[in-house]
Amino acid sequence: MDNNTLNTWNEELKNSSPQDVITFFLEKFPDTCALATSLGYEDQILTEMVASIDKEANIFTLDTGRLFPETYDLIDRTSKKYGINIHIFFPERRSVEKITQEHGINLFYDSIENRKLCCNVRKLEPLARAMKDLDVWITGLRKDQSVTRTSMRLVEWDDSNNIIKINPLINWTEQDVIQYIQEKGIPCNPLHKKGYASIGCQPCTRAIEKGEDVRAGRWWWEDPATKECGLHKK
Ligand code: SF4
Repeated sequence: MDNNTLNTWNEELKNSSPQDVITFFLEKFPDTCALATSLGYEDQILTEMVASIDKEANIFTLDTGRLFPETYDLIDRTSKKYGINIHIFFPERRSVEKITQEHGINLFYDSIENRKLCCNVRKLEPLARAMKDLDVWITGLRKDQSVTRTSMRLVEWDDSNNIIKINPLINWTEQDVIQYIQEKGIPCNPLHKKGYASIGCQPCTRAIEKGEDVRAGRWWWEDPATKECGLHKK
């Protein structure tokens, strides 16, 4: 993807609503545009928006095998509420067996290398498989979520995954997110109300204290600068 096209789209869509941004890309790439959802607040909003535009649109999630029970319930509730089929991608069985046999079931606590190995097997490989034939990846990233996300753009080229990445909620604040969820009655993970701001795998997510960064509860034992799981490099 050349930079001129990205710049043109960023300029053209800079004042558009998230729904208009999503519609633009669903129309331009009808078979190769997908929402990757982790079932967090932002992705639940995008699921509601995508489903209201096209119930057949591709919405997928990754089941790492280490999710919270509440997350599985939410997948079920969301699918039923919006009449959609969320496609679930699982890790390769042999790879999971290999890393757990070689490094232990909770290898991620032992070193950053082991944590990245686990994320690689349980998230990145399934994600690459899910995105193999896609051109556009809809994400729920917002600028103010993390120190590592301040330079992102509405439409970006994702080098790691060779795909156009769109971030329709890029400029939304946390308050915008909460307000939209309440107005639309969007189903959410009950763990959010228990202090879990950003919810990933159960062993790698903890509740945060008031005033902490929203991603402080993810891989809390690591330095903030190393904490992206590899799905999003920015
Ligand atoms: S978040 Fe934790 S359990 Fe989940 S894939 Fe990464 S290291 Fe493994």
